[in-house]
Amino acid sequence: MSSLPPQANEHSRVAILGAGFGGLGMAIRLLETGRSDFTIFEKAAGVGGTWRENTYPGCACDIASHLYSFSFEQDSGWSRTYAPQPEILRYLERVAAKHDLLERIRFNTEIVRLDWDDARRCWQLTAADGRTFTADVVVAGVGGLHVPRIPEIPGLTSFAGPAFHSARWRHDVDLADKRVAVIGTGASAIQIIPAIAPQVARLLVCQRTPPWVLPRHDRKVSRWARWAFDHVPGVQRLWRTLLYVESETIAIGFTLWPWLLGHWQRESLALLARHIKNPALRAALTPQYTMGCKRVLLSDDYYPALASDTVEVTTEKITAIRPHSIVTADGVERPVDVLVLATGFRTFNPATEIDIRGHGSRRLADDWATGPEAYNGLMVAGYPNLFLLMGPNSGLGHNSIVFMLEAQVCYVLSCLELLEKGTLPEIDVRPDVQQSFNEWVQRRFLRTVWVSNASPWRRPCTTWYRDPAGRLSALWPGFSASYRWRLRRADPRDFVDSPTPLPSATQAGHS
Ligand code: NAP
Repeated sequence: MSSLPPQANEHSRVAILGAGFGGLGMAIRLLETGRSDFTIFEKAAGVGGTWRENTYPGCACDIASHLYSFSFEQDSGWSRTYAPQPEILRYLERVAAKHDLLERIRFNTEIVRLDWDDARRCWQLTAADGRTFTADVVVAGVGGLHVPRIPEIPGLTSFAGPAFHSARWRHDVDLADKRVAVIGTGASAIQIIPAIAPQVARLLVCQRTPPWVLPRHDRKVSRWARWAFDHVPGVQRLWRTLLYVESETIAIGFTLWPWLLGHWQRESLALLARHIKNPALRAALTPQYTMGCKRVLLSDDYYPALASDTVEVTTEKITAIRPHSIVTADGVERPVDVLVLATGFRTFNPATEIDIRGHGSRRLADDWATGPEAYNGLMVAGYPNLFLLMGPNSGLGHNSIVFMLEAQVCYVLSCLELLEKGTLPEIDVRPDVQQSFNEWVQRRFLRTVWVSNASPWRRPCTTWYRDPAGRLSALWPGFSASYRWRLRRADPRDFVDSPTPLPSATQAGHS
């Protein structure tokens, strides 16, 4: 895919950062609502976001594909209930091409700085190569989880063999007959481990905390089902609704009555007992915290892979990595040829990746020094006309993120309407509104499984859902439907009402 030739100071009504699910969804809805003055800036050479970056063996989505896709671009052709990564990437490429979005994307253009211009009431965007652009509105769809978290283990850099993060998979490294170690047992690891276990000589799984695992029931989508999706009106929509309701059910336990999770915990322990016969291994794989506190993982083949003779699980802390081995706290040194770091990502904080400066040049990095905080999960007081898709407190651990993104896109459109009607000169959330929203969010968490108390149904865990300051800033604290309802329309009373009118693009000196 080629990028447009660089032009200095090009202006768009809306600048979208990122061409993943968020950016593409925003662009399509802008077009559908008759708004064609937008540009998408993408740091890479292709669309797809996380589905372009993560190519590790076994990579798939653990939300069913008929749900993990745009409601306005449903696809009847998914090969499996949980489509593999190449299929999801092809879906996004197809959707982008169908809506003629490729010509609106500036590929290989990483925006590293955003400056709000108080006088001209627009954003200046600066790319990594120094080019600048302007836009009245910026929608950042840069993704929440893509900066790899590299563990601080003594000697890691001294490892002599290939060592790479799950999101930077080295396809040039042949794992056949190698001694491979996977550090981590999160969502990525439990897809990688069963995929590579059959080809390697020995697989060492370094587990710090065992995940709760539920069966995925992944299967091929039959020809009959595909035929029905294509030819019987409403069937695919009904299927999607059923998948949504099924995924949402567990949120009753997460957000209202954690004791209900006992049902799913028993199902998970039964799955474990079915596949892991060795009592010591079964004990090591049994979580000691309440389900949901960390992301619940879905897999049909993780436990069977761990039961294999060539796989060893260690729960001992890794004390050192040497050029050809891993040493654990029990003093055991295991030889390793290839090291896979399935150790996750740094949690969403665009302020650390993009230098964002709002009203009066205030810096988002400073405002968020003690942790990210936003209004409705996507806007921050003092940063007008800026929308952060999948921003603080808009993540989910149990349902489709695309559903949340669509809610946010709908809200952004509603804000654009307020600007277009002249109801408001700029969209800047009132600080008191943002504060009371966040107080409500944190209060709402008190009822959930993510906050531990003395109850036997809420045993704590460490989780990336908490920011370094300890606040729960990653997740939405309720049902996804309640989020969608909340974001159905923007309320002008939530925003600072500046008396000065928004200058038109021409008055502001833009082309
Ligand atoms: P993750 O869930 O954060 O898991 C990281 C794993 O690495 C955890 O088991 C963690 O242990 C372990 N770890 C981290 N540092 C370690 C250290 N120093 N020593 C030993 N172990 C260490 O990361 P992920 O698996 O890449 O998944 C991240 C997120 O991406 C998921 O939560 C999900 O939102 C998304 N994802 C989604 C899918 C999907 O199918 N939808 C697939 C993959 C990823 P602790 O648990 O003890 O911290």
